[in-house]
Amino acid sequence: MTTAITTLHGIGTQVAEQLARLGIESVEDMLFHLPLRYEDRTQIKPLGQLSVGETVLIEGTIQAADVRMGRRRSLICMLDDDTGTIMLRFFHFYPSQQEKLRRGTQLRCFAEVRQGYQSLEMVHPQYEHIDSFHSTALIEEHLTPIYPSNSNLNQSVFYGLIKQIFETQEIIDYIPANIRKKFDLLPLKKALILLHQPPPNVTFKTLRTGEHPAQQRLAFEELLAHHLSLYSLRAHARRRKAPSLDNKGQLIQTLLAQLPFKLTAAQERVGAEIAADLRATYPMQRLLQGDVGSGKTIVAAISALQAIESGYQVAVMAPTELLSEQHKRTFTQWLAPLEIELTWLTGSLTKKKRGQVLEKIASGAASLVIGTHALFQKDVEFANLGLVIVDEQHRFGVHQRLALRNKGSQKGLYPHQIIMTATPIPRTLAMTAYADLDTSIIDELPPGRSPVNTVIIPNTRRDEVIARIQSVCEKEGRQAYWVCTLIDESEVLQFQAAEETAEQLRKALPNLRIGLVHGRIKAKEKEQVMLDFKAKQLDLLVATTVIEVGVDVPNASLMIIENPERLGLAQLHQLRGRVGRGSLQSHCVLLYQLPLSEIAATRLSTIRDIHDGFAIAQRDLDIRGPGEVLGTRQKGAMSLRVADLQRDKPLLEEVVKVGKILFKKYPEQCQFLIQRWLKEGLHYGEV
Ligand code: ADP
Ligand code: MG
Repeated sequence: MTTAITTLHGIGTQVAEQLARLGIESVEDMLFHLPLRYEDRTQIKPLGQLSVGETVLIEGTIQAADVRMGRRRSLICMLDDDTGTIMLRFFHFYPSQQEKLRRGTQLRCFAEVRQGYQSLEMVHPQYEHIDSFHSTALIEEHLTPIYPSNSNLNQSVFYGLIKQIFETQEIIDYIPANIRKKFDLLPLKKALILLHQPPPNVTFKTLRTGEHPAQQRLAFEELLAHHLSLYSLRAHARRRKAPSLDNKGQLIQTLLAQLPFKLTAAQERVGAEIAADLRATYPMQRLLQGDVGSGKTIVAAISALQAIESGYQVAVMAPTELLSEQHKRTFTQWLAPLEIELTWLTGSLTKKKRGQVLEKIASGAASLVIGTHALFQKDVEFANLGLVIVDEQHRFGVHQRLALRNKGSQKGLYPHQIIMTATPIPRTLAMTAYADLDTSIIDELPPGRSPVNTVIIPNTRRDEVIARIQSVCEKEGRQAYWVCTLIDESEVLQFQAAEETAEQLRKALPNLRIGLVHGRIKAKEKEQVMLDFKAKQLDLLVATTVIEVGVDVPNASLMIIENPERLGLAQLHQLRGRVGRGSLQSHCVLLYQLPLSEIAATRLSTIRDIHDGFAIAQRDLDIRGPGEVLGTRQKGAMSLRVADLQRDKPLLEEVVKVGKILFKKYPEQCQFLIQRWLKEGLHYGEV
């Protein structure tokens, strides 16, 4: 379906090479190589109406011209029309130029307007003399597209190619006319022409915001392509085989009988959804969402038992070593009475120990394997992996999901997968970025929890806060966290800050037992500190954000977060979720540094006032955009060319609807759309 760009007229090997560097190899690539921005040379702006930062065409008469010596020798011209003046500044100029740019000359200039020392100015504008015979070249009939390019390719190359393509090539619209009509979408060709060759009546403003119907049409198509690629991934997965984990559920019953609590209705419902999927003969891929403290771990344990009872192994992967240690303890406590052998694989094992662990995994002696990413290193081989559970992972792109699935495949059987998110994902985002997964949501907290009382206090009242710790720990017998954040600085500074804080607090609170964990402390030691804290051998735990996710100590009822203004909402919510895990009334102190910016103040009060993780995630999405929420910077998350998840959010619902129809009725078009927008999408089908 692709025509090589070289079949077009007038492309030599050199140009072809340069185009290829920009990823343009086919006619279609060129068509979708959209202008980065537009310049408006359609009208001359009066000097009295200029504003800083805009790139405009102006016209006027030189009132004064002068070479100044200053720090850099420069030619300065004052240009003036009836409405105002502007300064033109040239650092390099030939004597002949200087000669022509003299008082009384009429000029037309094009450049960005900047704020100079004395007045507005243009530095090295493109200019032409108006009184000369030829050239009204700077003035255009329509907006001028500016394409992403490199220094070797002139913009005119793109203009020529585009012109030729529109004249000679067929442009196929993969969204059928009836669907376009129903969902009010412009025909593709119309949209492309508008963007590549904007007609005179299109204004700069609509194009700049990306909200022009032509841009929206392409954004829609791009989002649709992403959605379809994930959706077809899911369809592919369903054609694969997985072990059907069907059994009486005796292990589960035994576990439930000895649990100190009863499952919530939401846990029961989600557990049943997973159980049904695990019995299927294709691999389940399920996203398990639930707010901090909603009790995802026990659901994971129950699912694990279903696999183990059928004779399969289960891998539980945690994002940090600390959390994997905690899982090791929790699962040991739950599973040991059932005589299930579990093992723990981390990066910090000695070579000998590691060998033993690997042997247990390979022989199948270990039914449950807990670890970090180390679980999926090359030398780790499972005897018969039936289920993979990924905990507290909110930055887990589609490529990682696929890699994980393939890692566990054996003899044509693929393991089931559960991905538990640390952060609730707003529904619209989940529909787009996780369309390859089914979703279960635990939408209820265990009974008896009261929201963490959150207060915002400036660092100037640090002493009061320290006194508060004293009373909470000494008088009430509770425990507390002190979280040091320094996220923008290096890791070294982070742990230094934590060590210094711990030192200060030890001096200020000599009667309290104070522990310290941060990224530089050895795994063994860290584990010991956490164990001590859990066993109430420590009153106060000073930590960096390593304790962000998962850590579970129900007796802790006070958390101080230092410099909370530096963290995102989701992260703050996660941190705060470390307290309020039992039935105790818990408190969280956001100890901020003065002065506080307005945005930061809004964020902190959002955290103070909202306790529902889903609502907070939605706010986070609004404030920081989907990139942060999804972790787009990481490989495998969505990277979009035209669409902007934030701006184009309103399109998502319809994208999903159109996706469903296309997937069912127009499978060929789906494939073409995916190829057009995600070259990488091609691999999805293969893995
Ligand atoms: P998260 O969803 O944040 O991972 P956890 O699984 O760590 O939450 O559970 C938080 C705490 O709630 C744990 O101490 C856990 O034992 C407890 N818990 C889980 N389910 C229930 C329940 N149904 N009733 C009471 N406590 C529960
Ligand atoms: Mg958890």
